[in-house]
Amino acid sequence: MQQTTTTSGTPSGGPGPSPSAEQWLIRVRGVVQGVGYRPFVHNLAKSMGLSGWVLNDTLGVQTEVRGPVPRLNAFAVALRDDAPLLARVDEVRVEARTSDPAGAGEGFEIRRSTRTAGRSDTIVAPDSHVCPDCLREVRDPADRRHRYPFTNCTHCGPRYSIVKGLPYDREQTTMASFAMCDDCRREYEDPGDRRYHAQPNACPVCGPRLTLSGPGGPLAEADDALAAATEALAAGRIVAVKSVGGFHLAANARDAAAVARLRSRKKRDSKPFAVMVDDLPSAARLADCGTAEAELLESPARPIVLLRKLPGALPEEIAPRNPNIGVMLPSAPLHHLLLDRPGLDVLVMTSGNVSGYPIAYRNEEALEQLFQVADLVLHHDRDIHVRVDDSVVRCSVHPELDEPLVTFLRRSRGYAPYPVEVGEVGELPEPVLAYGAELKTTVALGSGRKVYVSQHIGDLKNDETFRSHRQTADHLSQLYELRPRRIAVDMHPSFRSHVLAGDERPADVVEVQHHHAHMASCMAENRLTGTTLGVVFDGAGYGLDGTIWGGEFLLGGYAEADRVAHLRRIPLLGGDMAVHQPIRTGFALALESLGLPGAATAAFPALRTLGDRERHVYTTMVARGLNAPRVSSMGRLFDGVAALLGVCARAEYEAQGPIELEGLLGRDLALARRPYAFGHEASAADDGPRVIDFRPVVRAIAADLAADTPLATISRRFHTAVVRLVVDRCEEQRAHGGVRQVVLSGGVFLNEFLLVNCLTELRRAGFAAHAHRLVPTNDGGIALGQVMVAGARSRTRPQPPA
Ligand code: ZN
Ligand code: ZN
Ligand code: FE
Repeated sequence: MQQTTTTSGTPSGGPGPSPSAEQWLIRVRGVVQGVGYRPFVHNLAKSMGLSGWVLNDTLGVQTEVRGPVPRLNAFAVALRDDAPLLARVDEVRVEARTSDPAGAGEGFEIRRSTRTAGRSDTIVAPDSHVCPDCLREVRDPADRRHRYPFTNCTHCGPRYSIVKGLPYDREQTTMASFAMCDDCRREYEDPGDRRYHAQPNACPVCGPRLTLSGPGGPLAEADDALAAATEALAAGRIVAVKSVGGFHLAANARDAAAVARLRSRKKRDSKPFAVMVDDLPSAARLADCGTAEAELLESPARPIVLLRKLPGALPEEIAPRNPNIGVMLPSAPLHHLLLDRPGLDVLVMTSGNVSGYPIAYRNEEALEQLFQVADLVLHHDRDIHVRVDDSVVRCSVHPELDEPLVTFLRRSRGYAPYPVEVGEVGELPEPVLAYGAELKTTVALGSGRKVYVSQHIGDLKNDETFRSHRQTADHLSQLYELRPRRIAVDMHPSFRSHVLAGDERPADVVEVQHHHAHMASCMAENRLTGTTLGVVFDGAGYGLDGTIWGGEFLLGGYAEADRVAHLRRIPLLGGDMAVHQPIRTGFALALESLGLPGAATAAFPALRTLGDRERHVYTTMVARGLNAPRVSSMGRLFDGVAALLGVCARAEYEAQGPIELEGLLGRDLALARRPYAFGHEASAADDGPRVIDFRPVVRAIAADLAADTPLATISRRFHTAVVRLVVDRCEEQRAHGGVRQVVLSGGVFLNEFLLVNCLTELRRAGFAAHAHRLVPTNDGGIALGQVMVAGARSRTRPQPPA
């Protein structure tokens, strides 16, 4: 960047040529299209008395300005510092300077978009909430957009979910089929108007319309549909609502019967529901809300924020046995309009899907599927091009953290497809496309110093999700005009993403070990380089030896990593069955630790819920290794401990046992004074990985249970033992090889107690410890790591032939 130095003093002289006049050609890169950037440049230039032009092209925004040099300097600074709300300026570069321009010219024009030769380098903006100006119009009975749910302007509204291609123009969005009326067109063409080139601009005369449908067909249109939908919600009915990136299932959160009906129809007994309220004060009546949390709630991305719930504020069945409640503020005018009805101040807003399927985003699929759960479907004729789920974040506070730690549980609407900047150290020699893992999949496209991480896609075992995985990969490549030849995949031979890559030429496919990808992902977003110790705890990932890993200490970098320690392997009774029935893993842990089935049941009353026959069969399975693969998974250890404490015998949703085990701590992050202690087994080979023994911990839990120790105390001692294990292992590794840099990754680190305490305790012990802040620590972050590993290997290995 050449010119963004601040100039002092006010611009001197009137408009027109002066002895020091110059003409500058300036290039602006970043999120600068579809966010009101050109009108901003236009107004800025006019206010400074500069003449010239501005346009959008595939590289971003280009502007040419003429005037006195001090004012040109100030202009360049303002291009970055005063950019509109939704813009994100990565670079302002003066590409050409000409002194004493011929004919200084008058006025400033906004030129038509042009296509620049070569690939597109501009970034599509994520979807954004409705801005205060638009909301005021929606609530003003005298305004022509009164109660119009599709109101938007250049500062707000849908973006990524409606964009089909670049440059970002109306013809390239799902708004192409709506012809603007004269009033809308006037706004659209007036550079002084807030809706100048607002591509989704619309009004009740010319824009999209609501329809309310029942199982028998359409019932009402436009404002009548809205009124009938709110009345139905107030009367305790369940209404599917078409939101920004897909459908929600909505119900009155204060109506316990309505919530119970939603649970039974959705076949969800205990998975927490998120709620939506109109504003911050309403959120504060339901849950504790700190400054950082308030900022997240009100940010343009409008994520679901996990807040500590206030007891009794809402029916317990909204988030049973959970200290948190997921809260979000409206992300579209329609949400405000639903919540405007007196008596309807909190809505359950859960994803609009039927069990096992991704959220519905097309009208046809919603009308076909959602009546299994909903009484009514409130939809409209503005198509969603890309399905985008709600994002979920959490904010952790600890006296030893400089600032609140923001964790993505799901990174999707409002954030995708912002790229992760990996800096010079991670620069990619050629574009790479990564297919992610299997559950909670995302895809990622890396090019240069940017990795575009997609929205959350979901579980690829479902055909519909698998289709959207492929579509998302194609869509990203098409948006950014990249044709990557290199594809990175998980090593697991039966993952569908792996099988998909089998259609490519073998030379182009890079197989990346699951936990190495986790580690590389955390390194990349923290822009780390050099030898790093990766502490990767998750549920399951295919290991280099063909067994399932998940409690791993890896040492290395982007290209390669060695397994230096792992958790002792736990027999997984019935394979995947054990994931759904943690009681099986509880039994396996007890048997491994205490030796005999009788001793196991005597020590752990929770195991008595198993029948004699089951216990006999399980004992045989473990003894003979029949359908009981051994996995070194930390996630399974948490499952098993939760089951042994009687917290969760059968899991209805992923990680329910660990979540409820952590729930016993009530978000109190204090370490236990007398934690349990893991043991170490001698390794088979001298230079082989160290094996961490969980059996002493299980035996100590049995002793605590026998002494009637409260479950919350046992949970805290167990959690603290895992923190100590991490610090001790890292210290031992440092003593041997001197490593000081540690990254924490894997789904187990969604556990707030572990995450925050491992970070702070490692730092206290002198380590440079890092966690995820930009992408999820679970498999949602895998694709980023895969890109980085594939990139590093293409630097160190010969390129595939062209
Ligand atoms: Zn607006
Ligand atoms: Zn109109
Ligand atoms: Fe994983």
